[in-house]
Amino acid sequence: MVKLTFYGGVNEIGGNKVLVEDKKTKIFFDFGQSFNFGAEYFTGWLSPRAINGLGDHFEFGLLPKVRGLYAKEQLAFTDFPYMEPEVNAIFLSHAHFDHVTHICFVDPLIPVYLGVGTKLFLESMEETSSFCDYKEHEYRTFRTGEKIKIDDITVEPVHVDHSIPAAYGFVIHTSEGTVVYTGDLRLHGPRKDLTEEFVEKAKECEPDALICEGTRMTLKEKRRNYSESQVERLSSEIVSSTDKIVFITRYSRDMDRFRSFYNVAIKNERKIVVSPKTAYLLGKLIQDEHLDLPDPLKDERILVYYKRKKSGTYDDADYYIWERQFMDKMVTCEFVHKNQSRLIMDLDFYQFAELIDIKPTRGSHFIHSMSEPFSEEDIEDEVLHNWLDHFGMHFHQLHASGHLSKDQIGSLIREIKPKKVFPVHTENPHLFEKISSNVQITKRGEEYDV
Ligand SMILES: [Zn+2]
Repeated sequence: MVKLTFYGGVNEIGGNKVLVEDKKTKIFFDFGQSFNFGAEYFTGWLSPRAINGLGDHFEFGLLPKVRGLYAKEQLAFTDFPYMEPEVNAIFLSHAHFDHVTHICFVDPLIPVYLGVGTKLFLESMEETSSFCDYKEHEYRTFRTGEKIKIDDITVEPVHVDHSIPAAYGFVIHTSEGTVVYTGDLRLHGPRKDLTEEFVEKAKECEPDALICEGTRMTLKEKRRNYSESQVERLSSEIVSSTDKIVFITRYSRDMDRFRSFYNVAIKNERKIVVSPKTAYLLGKLIQDEHLDLPDPLKDERILVYYKRKKSGTYDDADYYIWERQFMDKMVTCEFVHKNQSRLIMDLDFYQFAELIDIKPTRGSHFIHSMSEPFSEEDIEDEVLHNWLDHFGMHFHQLHASGHLSKDQIGSLIREIKPKKVFPVHTENPHLFEKISSNVQITKRGEEYDV
């Protein structure tokens, strides 16, 4: 009577949409968008039209036709009728794109459960990005260890360590046993104790099913991976060995990585220059004292970089209202140019044009603190290197993944000992069969008994 259906995250990394049903109770765990979502039909400026709601998505079968799930306005131009909610709730494991994005289509009458920190991330994204709109929802926040009863199902969120704060796995108690969902998690981050606690909890309840992420489930891992502490140590070595500026590109919401570079700055008596967007996010996240992040308005180590906009004279009116609150901490390209030896600076690839104004001294450094490109013909990677060559900068690749390695996935499954394993969030579900004898390979949209 307890059933699982995977509407996303099947043979793909991300886009998780896992439906758990117990009699009449239906709960979705995550409702994200996969990274190559709709890539067969949409590319560049050819994208689904917002005005057509779900119409363009249904045309190509990109989202499932599930009764009582979607908002009325999203169905207005489709042949799929609107129905009162039949889905009781949506639980979000963390605020990454591939786990949350499609909640924008969901009926506002269906409550969305999420961590306190996750809600702060969603708010920050909506407030600082013109193309981010999750639409109206009734958000209900939780903390680790709470038990949330929704009709026949009780959900227990348990914190895990991932490359974004406020990430959770779920222990799902049903009328016929327990299902555990890992979300995304790792064991080599600064808070591996959180993941260990999750594994302990999962193991205790002797689960019938484990829905397990497998991002790094590959035959051979080609990319170098460090632990977070190695990233910090190696970056600090780079900074301490130079009197030139060090630029960093990292995932904007990876606050562990921010903290690593912040620590590197302190250790090397430098200041860290961040974008107004990062300053805004920090200002938001300090509301959750558990996250233990610095206040961008009070912390003297943090400076905020303003690009020239509109008038080109750094006039208040040139900037969005949310950007203006950090103008006391403003630094410009001239300041950065003059103080290169005293700074490390966050510089996103899409902001590289600022290098033209900053004019870094030849022999400066650039740390690419993100995943290495997937293919050798990656165009952006080629452009990035052209810029670095043009400015005579040294390139460094230093990244710690947000996910368990293949061996760690094996240990996790052996430790938790579920009766059945459902791989999710992986391109290689069949590789799970090499580490466990009771693997259920799933097909998108098909129902499975627990
Ligand atoms: Zn993910």
